[in-house]
Amino acid sequence: MNILLTGGTGYIGSHTAAVLAAANHQVVLYDNLCNSQASVADRLQTITGKTLPLVIGDIRNTLLLTDTLKTHQIEAVIHFAGLKAVGDSVRDPVTYFDNNVAGTLSLLQAMQATAVKTLVFSSSATVYGEPQYLPYDEKHPTRAMNPYGRSKLHIEEILADLATAHADWRIACLRYFNPVGAHESGLIGEDPEGIPNNLMPFVARVASGALPRLTIFGNDYETPDGTGVRDYVHVMDLAEGHLAALESLGKGSAPIRYTNLGTGIGVSVLELVQAFKDASGQDIPSVVSDRRPGDLPAYYADATKAKQELGWSATRTLADMCQSTWHFQVCAKQRAN
Ligand code: NAD
Ligand code: UDP
Repeated sequence: MNILLTGGTGYIGSHTAAVLAAANHQVVLYDNLCNSQASVADRLQTITGKTLPLVIGDIRNTLLLTDTLKTHQIEAVIHFAGLKAVGDSVRDPVTYFDNNVAGTLSLLQAMQATAVKTLVFSSSATVYGEPQYLPYDEKHPTRAMNPYGRSKLHIEEILADLATAHADWRIACLRYFNPVGAHESGLIGEDPEGIPNNLMPFVARVASGALPRLTIFGNDYETPDGTGVRDYVHVMDLAEGHLAALESLGKGSAPIRYTNLGTGIGVSVLELVQAFKDASGQDIPSVVSDRRPGDLPAYYADATKAKQELGWSATRTLADMCQSTWHFQVCAKQRAN
């Protein structure tokens, strides 16, 4: 199948590109490079042995998108492109809604103009808001906690209306939990600019000596060891989830469906730090500070629906996630020197 990946040079997009290319799909990357680099396309060529065309453009450029869909005879789109920093979305909501929501509308216009009706959308577990029960299943009520989460919810609602109006569309909203880890090659992974906001890349930088210590945001939560609990899922498992979603969309009769992509296992900050120490053999100094404003104590997925409907479940362990992150970190440092 000819598949367009918006945000295709980003963290999750690039890993999904590797998985799709290995499954003999023709992948086209579309990205404005606001949070990634064109060199990712070259690295994907090294990994896959195939040339993956990269179109440098913004998803709000409907004409360029339409032209790309036509030129490459695209049959399905996986829509990763978006801004994802919660704090930035609170400071600058207009930019977030413009990029994420208006950008998605532009994509949908281009898809309608070219009769491309198969879409996989990168949603997030953040759409569930404060847990009313755990694990979150897909029937859990939704409620956004910040503009980033609201942009994801708005998009899900737009897609639901589209599916109601046009029953021949096939749309999968994949609600990711906490993607971490990297491709085994060490060539692609998560490499945020500046100081990372998220736990795993922060821990990796402390282990490598680039940052002096980890600050643990609170150890007085009502969790087994007092620190925050999340459902970390290996990015290669997540990438395989996209392939499974695409394959199941072809078979299913519902125009839209929502699926959690997580492991179903909650892991605390302290457990992750210990696993990373074991994987890297490095010391990871840490201090405990106050809770981070807006943080939830704990959440994790009910992963049953993904297994039933997509035939997908995560297979990689926390140790795999830490080992691949560390390998990527070491390789990235070697490349920089
Ligand atoms: P990322 O920033 O690495 O990748 C996103 C890519 O989209 C980047 O390459 C960026 O340059 C591109 N992009 C952004 N705005 C664009 C625009 N207007 N036009 C064209 N390209 C644009 O992020 P990621 O972690 O790979 O996330 C991919 C998607 O998954 C995002 O939509 C994100 O909200 C969602 N998601 C991510 C996580 C996570 O923790 N990483 C969790 C849940 C959901
Ligand atoms: N966390 C932490 N120190 C950091 C970054 C994160 O203690 O420098 C904690 C955070 O409070 C949460 C967990 O690690 O309990 C996961 O945070 P992350 O930002 O990676 O994911 P999110 O909270 O967005 O799910």
